[in-house]
Amino acid sequence: MTWCGRVALAANSAATRTARNDVLSRYNALTLDEHSDLLSHIKVEAAGMRPPEIPDEIFEYYFSVDAMLAHPFLVSYIRPAIRFAESYGFDFGRTPIITSPGLTFGGQAIPLAATGLKVAEIPLGLVFLMREIGRGILNLHNSIAEHRRNEIEAFAEACVDLARLLYEPAAKVYELSSQKFRGTSLKSKLFSAQTTHVIAVFVILHEAGHIFLQHELNQITRDQEFAADIFAVEAFRSSKKDPKFNVFYDLALIYVCDLFSIMELEFAVNGGSLLGYPSFAERRDNLLSHYRPAPDVVAAIEAFRAQLAKFAPQS
Ligand SMILES: [Zn+2]
Repeated sequence: MTWCGRVALAANSAATRTARNDVLSRYNALTLDEHSDLLSHIKVEAAGMRPPEIPDEIFEYYFSVDAMLAHPFLVSYIRPAIRFAESYGFDFGRTPIITSPGLTFGGQAIPLAATGLKVAEIPLGLVFLMREIGRGILNLHNSIAEHRRNEIEAFAEACVDLARLLYEPAAKVYELSSQKFRGTSLKSKLFSAQTTHVIAVFVILHEAGHIFLQHELNQITRDQEFAADIFAVEAFRSSKKDPKFNVFYDLALIYVCDLFSIMELEFAVNGGSLLGYPSFAERRDNLLSHYRPAPDVVAAIEAFRAQLAKFAPQS
């Protein structure tokens, strides 16, 4: 293991220990049958997902079954997501929120095979990229707002790279992202924490939304996809009703729409077939027509989308 790898692992391990224990303790509420159903589900999804030449410690920490139960890169967002859902009037109860190495780009909510326990699953590759997406979104907005032309181009390209990575298997995402983004400046890491927070919590709440709204999980419809998006945003907004938080809610809406703009880029190229399922662009438009934000908010979302579109792959 490299020196840098060892230091990063130790730092992350210490910083997330409390949140990990917190998330792990939620599994105590499961029955023994549900627990073993969950573990065998994860084992199937994790099979063959080990990146080549990865040290055992890193594998254990980021790719093992234990890691999927309470991923160190996701745990800090699980508690806030639970709090938001509760303030919106829903009880997370025993719903596990796990990470899946078998999924790319989008999460899912599914019933487990043997017990029917409903589980929210977030793709491992997305979890690895969450912080980079937060950085990419904030940096591109900042450079657009300050008319820094060279930076606009560089950050738009970085977002396009992220869009491509989101459709790769988690092991490849891990390898490529650890090479590609090592040099990100500390300043940009600090300021983008909130952006990352919004995106991560939204992704969790969307999957939880399918469960709370009692959607037929094996056959999610177009309208239910839109409904889960609205659920996630509403839950997010429910904890603080004071109008002084509106500035923050506008920003959150921008970040979520940006996430859709990023995901949309590769959807037509690498994504699944639509099969009546809404595209990410439609999901973004649905949020905009539902919330009807102020013109400057719409303009920011559109400027972001337009910059990415310049680098869009040819479908
Ligand atoms: Zn969904």
